[in-house]
Amino acid sequence: MEVKNCRKCGKMFNYMGGQQVCPACKELAEKKFQEVKEYVREHKTASISEICNDCGVENKQIQQWVREERLIFSDDSPVKLSCELCGAQIKTGRYCDKCKKETANNISAAGRRPEAPVSREKKDSSSHKMHTFHN
Ligand SMILES: [Zn+2]
Ligand SMILES: [Zn+2]
Repeated sequence: MEVKNCRKCGKMFNYMGGQQVCPACKELAEKKFQEVKEYVREHKTASISEICNDCGVENKQIQQWVREERLIFSDDSPVKLSCELCGAQIKTGRYCDKCKKETANNISAAGRRPEAPVSREKKDSSSHKMHTFHN
């Protein structure tokens, strides 16, 4: 266990990974999050700056919640997020569903490359390859 200074209030605390924020500030942030979540639900068309002003949170904090997929914007929301990989429009998080699936696959297949040996056979499938398909 490490002792670090809280990034928010500067107090020393036992750091256990994740954000460098002390438990007291984490709890405060959690309360704030509930407030913002409630606000977003009631004000579906609020922009990020409106949320910041009305809830007294930083833009940065909102972005973080979004990236953690905790804060989800509605279809009516003017808040536009785009996938960090392909630029598709998304409602929360960092990637669209497609890229999320792809990154998840890449992560679970780390170290192995399962698609490599299969691709050669597939190329010829347009021609008369049916008979080579034996068990
Ligand atoms: Zn703190
Ligand atoms: Zn994408």
